[in-house]
Amino acid sequence: MSQNGPKELHNRRSVLCNPYAHIEQLVEIHGRANTDDAIHASRHLLQNPYAYLDENGGFSVQKDSIKVSRRKLAPKEIEAIVIKIQRRLWLECRSNSSSEATPNPIDVLDPVAAAKLYGFELDFVNDLGFYADRAEKVAVAGQLDRSEQSIRVSRAFSTEVTRFTAAHEIGHLVLHPHLTHLHRDRPADGSNIARDEIEIEADKFASYFLMPEKLLRKAFVDRFLTESFSLNDQAVYALSIKYENIPKNSRLLADLLSTALFYNGKQFPSLAEAFKVSRKAMAIRLKELQLINFSV
Ligand SMILES: [Zn+2]
Repeated sequence: MSQNGPKELHNRRSVLCNPYAHIEQLVEIHGRANTDDAIHASRHLLQNPYAYLDENGGFSVQKDSIKVSRRKLAPKEIEAIVIKIQRRLWLECRSNSSSEATPNPIDVLDPVAAAKLYGFELDFVNDLGFYADRAEKVAVAGQLDRSEQSIRVSRAFSTEVTRFTAAHEIGHLVLHPHLTHLHRDRPADGSNIARDEIEIEADKFASYFLMPEKLLRKAFVDRFLTESFSLNDQAVYALSIKYENIPKNSRLLADLLSTALFYNGKQFPSLAEAFKVSRKAMAIRLKELQLINFSV
């Protein structure tokens, strides 16, 4: 290892993303060579689970643990990317389909097929174990492994969660090329309050992917006969809601319409069911598209 000059110290700290790393500590670990203990100790010391000792006994970190400066993506940009992928899936489905029957558009929005477009395999597995997030033990619901070109999604959760998580991982795959290490995610159904910027972006991606605007507007109008639903007397009657159950705010109204099974005497699968998403994810999307007009 080279000298402990201030410049070297500075470089080391920046490579390790750790302003507190000290060359003298590195030297101490370096001296212990390539044993598992040394790797473990180095990871602990550097507070970086991805740090490892390279083959030469020197210190190294995987590229992705170095903070990448990136521009935050606007929702419209994410949506434009999603629409392109959906078009490709449509085209592929049409050219592969031998029958004349039009496939269910929701089935075409398949995260497994989307992964294939990028040369990735998406598998559903029984269990992905746990990871530690600060003091919390979190069940892993999905993971993206670029080096293996693989996405894995746990079957241990509801269908809505596995589907949303799978679409969330596709979001990382497409939007976040800098995630080159094994990226793991907790279960998501679109209702979680997202944490980091990239998690928010992947959630947005999943929401646009699973609930495309055009398709959802059509399904909404088919059911509720309007693109701007107001809770007037007629609507209350058409929904057969008891007075005490009348939604008191737009969120509750969005929840109700996401799971409503009939309107004006006509029965249908609920929007949440038809799009195979959670009630919360659908409710958020309905509000986002301003399909609900709540005024008191
Ligand atoms: Zn994520």
